[in-house]
Amino acid sequence: MSYTASKHRYERMAYRRCGNSGLKLPMISLGLWHNFGEIDDYENCRKIMHTAFSHGITHFDLANNYGPPPGAAEITFGKIFKKDFKPYRDELIISSKAGYKMWDGPYGDWGSKKYLVASLDQSLQRTGLDYMDIFYHHRPDPETPLEETMAALDLIVRQGKALYVGISNYKPDEATKAFDVLKRMGTPCIIHQARYSMFDRWVEDGLMDVLGKEKVGCITFSSLAQGMLTDKYLKGIPKDSRAGRHLENGAITESQLTDKVIAKAKKLNDIASDRDQSLAQMAIAWILKNERITSVILGASKPKQVTDAIGAIKNFNFSKEELERIDGILKG
Ligand code: NDP
Repeated sequence: MSYTASKHRYERMAYRRCGNSGLKLPMISLGLWHNFGEIDDYENCRKIMHTAFSHGITHFDLANNYGPPPGAAEITFGKIFKKDFKPYRDELIISSKAGYKMWDGPYGDWGSKKYLVASLDQSLQRTGLDYMDIFYHHRPDPETPLEETMAALDLIVRQGKALYVGISNYKPDEATKAFDVLKRMGTPCIIHQARYSMFDRWVEDGLMDVLGKEKVGCITFSSLAQGMLTDKYLKGIPKDSRAGRHLENGAITESQLTDKVIAKAKKLNDIASDRDQSLAQMAIAWILKNERITSVILGASKPKQVTDAIGAIKNFNFSKEELERIDGILKG
């Protein structure tokens, strides 16, 4: 069966401007880090992407190494794009990244111009796209001069292989330097991709101020703490969950689901119920309450997780009392 997107897709989503760029992103985006590898069910992957786009999720986030094995998520995406999404190319924002180990030898990792340019060419081949909408440097490289890494991003845009560039996992001082270099080159950085959730608030310690001052957008990942900020682990570890599947490559493990974490999630779940939200919805809403956040990248293993998440945009206002209750639980 071929796919036709819902006519109502743009009524179901809201969009925020990414920093002071011309680009708007959906408040919720879809990430393909997990659930789109060779080990995953292809028809389920298709359904997740269909559900997302039919609800106005116009942004799909990839990286060279997403899988398993590395590269597989871009291949899965490419197959689905070719079958179902080609007519919608101009309605989509696709991103990819390079910065982690992708191939053996000295040119398959970190931040050299050699690595970034070659990796983007590979990503374009795997996805079958003519260009990426956003291309990121995935993590800072302590050895390569920042000027070289940023020059690679600038080159890629001038070659037409990406429209916009971003950085990910850069600390506030590293990000400030990268923004300066890119600005001087005439290819401004429009977006920073950072881990941010109720359980991991490091961005509040300087990064959000830098992004506000520089007017760079912020897109967050692991905002459900890979599932720990949902109701799925409150009564044990389901076999088909990320922790239950014993995945590698940075996925949460059973050992992270401590009694303390579960106790906090249970208390947060009570607040979510009082707000008529699922815990997943409240966790996303809690991020989106900050207008400086452009988008939350959701990971999803099932289409219904996408529709659940979208409910978050119906209410991302929190009373002072709710915020104090949440802070109390997180500190406890
Ligand atoms: P999340 O914190 O959103 O975790 C996703 C997982 O949460 C899902 O796989 C699912 O787990 C569970 N989940 C989602 N919705 C629900 C729901 N409604 N109810 C119950 N469980 C739910 O994000 P990720 O850690 O997956 O990251 C999201 C994206 O961010 C990635 O795909 C990637 O694009 C990007 N990212 C970027 C990084 C970077 O360094 N720049 C690093 C990591 C991610 P289950 O599988 O158990 O069903």
